[in-house]
Amino acid sequence: MPRFAAGVVRFQNEVYPQKKELFEKLSLGQSPEALFITCSDSRIETAMITQTDPGDLFICRNAGNIVPPHTNYTGAMTASIEFAVAALNVPHIVVCGHTECGAMKGAMNPEGLDELPHVREWLGFAKAAVEIVNETGAGKSEEERMRMLLEQNVMLQLQHLRTHPKVAARLAKGDLQLHGWIYDIKTGDVLAYDEAQNKFIPVDERYATEMARLAASHGCAA
Ligand SMILES: [Zn+2]
Repeated sequence: MPRFAAGVVRFQNEVYPQKKELFEKLSLGQSPEALFITCSDSRIETAMITQTDPGDLFICRNAGNIVPPHTNYTGAMTASIEFAVAALNVPHIVVCGHTECGAMKGAMNPEGLDELPHVREWLGFAKAAVEIVNETGAGKSEEERMRMLLEQNVMLQLQHLRTHPKVAARLAKGDLQLHGWIYDIKTGDVLAYDEAQNKFIPVDERYATEMARLAASHGCAA
């Protein structure tokens, strides 16, 4: 029996009973706090990183955490974004890139993608980020350039999000916030883009105010 099938049995016997009430409540509907867009990479465990429960995040994953700019062509990302933003009314959208991203390595070196034509074409949606790194990252090490690309790609996909009509409308209305994150697989660190400083900073700094408010509302001391 595959390991993950055995896992399902363990989930049913040990995990489900502990959260039975939550699962029964979720069967009546969902009201996720965020649309969470990240890479398909197997090393990213969204619920573990964010310590969230089922029902908290509406998740879209693809190679390179990419959001194609809006066109009249209907794709999976387009439909999922529209549903999350206009039907579920999520108040937040997170685009979360990560270190050691194979997709971003491919975007940086597309000549290695001859045998992966669909991957190569898909990574065309990250082309502007690659161009920015090529233009501004000259003389920097390969590692520094990759770091720049991870950040630039997240920024670019946030720009693409703004071209989606329902996202644009909600942003204009002022009840939707966009967030850019980078998850470090090796260290567990998560950096978040801070508009005021125009750079990625640790999550606890970026959301210090929000976290203090949340702790206060839960009656915690910290
Ligand atoms: Zn990746």
